[in-house]
Amino acid sequence: MNINIPEDVNYILEKIFDAGFDAYIVGGCVRDSVLGKEPDDWDITTNALPLQVKDLFRRTVDTGLQHGTITVMRGNTGYEVTTYRTDGVYSDGRHPDKVTFVPSLEEDLKRRDFTINAMAYNSRAGLIDLFGGMQDLKDGIIRCVGKAEERFSEDALRMLRAVRFAAKLGYVLDTDVYDSIRKRAETLSVVSAERITTELIKLLTSDHPEMIRLAYETGLTAVFFPEFDKAMTTEQNHPHHMYGVGDHLIESVRISQNDRIIRLTMLLHDIAKPETLTIDTEGITHFYGHATLGAEMAEKILRRWKLDNDTIRRVCRLIKYHDLGKGVPCSPKAVRKGVRLMEEDFPLLLEVERADILAQSTYMREEKLATLEQFSSEYEIILKEKQCCSLKDLAVNGKDLMALGINPGPGLGKILGALLDKVIDDPSLNEKEILLKAAGEMKDEI
Ligand code: ATP
Ligand code: MG
Repeated sequence: MNINIPEDVNYILEKIFDAGFDAYIVGGCVRDSVLGKEPDDWDITTNALPLQVKDLFRRTVDTGLQHGTITVMRGNTGYEVTTYRTDGVYSDGRHPDKVTFVPSLEEDLKRRDFTINAMAYNSRAGLIDLFGGMQDLKDGIIRCVGKAEERFSEDALRMLRAVRFAAKLGYVLDTDVYDSIRKRAETLSVVSAERITTELIKLLTSDHPEMIRLAYETGLTAVFFPEFDKAMTTEQNHPHHMYGVGDHLIESVRISQNDRIIRLTMLLHDIAKPETLTIDTEGITHFYGHATLGAEMAEKILRRWKLDNDTIRRVCRLIKYHDLGKGVPCSPKAVRKGVRLMEEDFPLLLEVERADILAQSTYMREEKLATLEQFSSEYEIILKEKQCCSLKDLAVNGKDLMALGINPGPGLGKILGALLDKVIDDPSLNEKEILLKAAGEMKDEI
């Protein structure tokens, strides 16, 4: 087994060897290299102590000195070099009470979560695979290093990590892993939202985001996403749907473009359906107002997950308008109105609607996709002709209106909004002279 190590990583390894220490690449980069994938980052493990590592390199950052990690900078890229360590006792189920530096690589590999993540390599020793990681890569199995129950009792996050690696690689969970998660899923509640969210986003943006179903089946979503469990038991009886709410969410995530904002939107877009369910006399299910309520619920959920404000704003807006244009014929004006609401995220809305349609029944699917296609072509025209759909593209601004003697304040805002309405109705009106004249007339009415 030969792994092609980048020049900068080799430089770091050699420098540590020259000082008389051992060093290996370890974890994800070994796993990905074996699979022929380009690793995201290269981690190094060594018996040199953190301060000894620091001494060897000119530019370093003390990333986690007490955990043994020094980041060595090469150009703009940082490489984490971590001293062999064991993690001692975990009395709280999320982090070790104290970490201890140890002299042996084996001890370090033993503390790692899964066999496929517990291999090390350097060009002198070749591949170090003490727990059958290669075999599990061949068989496509996520297996713990040691007993699953013990490893999950040390750090409960590992249960969600198991599902996220299964999703990343399209693997199955070893039965010991699966059974232990089912038994212990609730203990995930001691883990911080930030750590859970990191794994959830990696799961969603993996090649198999539909494997979130595994997180549901094993009881993990019940801990950090109980709204989803409710969706999983809400049926839909409607010609447009062939799945229940939860399965529709999963299918829409699966079929959507691999983008963080889009995948989060798909996961949450119908989250208010269980709350808005009504059944008519024919037995048909309806969910009036689910998009608006969904945006509100999504905001709470995303805040609970500690996502950043920009992500929250964009996802919630996409959810609020995810039914925009449904059942209405496409017109240039309708598209301009949509762009006004969605701003630069209009193309994302088109993708959200496409994924939503493809996760519904086949009833009228061709018609729905054809309308969406029209929206898309009309949007291209708007872009090409640089048609105005927002205040920033309006031929007049607040200053121009103030020059007309309109005082700054809500009245001025209202006039600008009304001028934009006019231009969205008829783009040829986006001329300074025309708009100033119209503003002059509105001035007295407002
Ligand atoms: P990815 O490239 O998808 O991030 P990765 O394997 O690099 O995958 P990281 O979360 O970056 O995953 O972790 C790096 C390595 O550290 C893992 O491969 C594993 O060996 C070890 N590791 C990380 N988190 C844990 C944990 N909670 N428990 C045990 N070992 C862990
Ligand atoms: Mg990593």
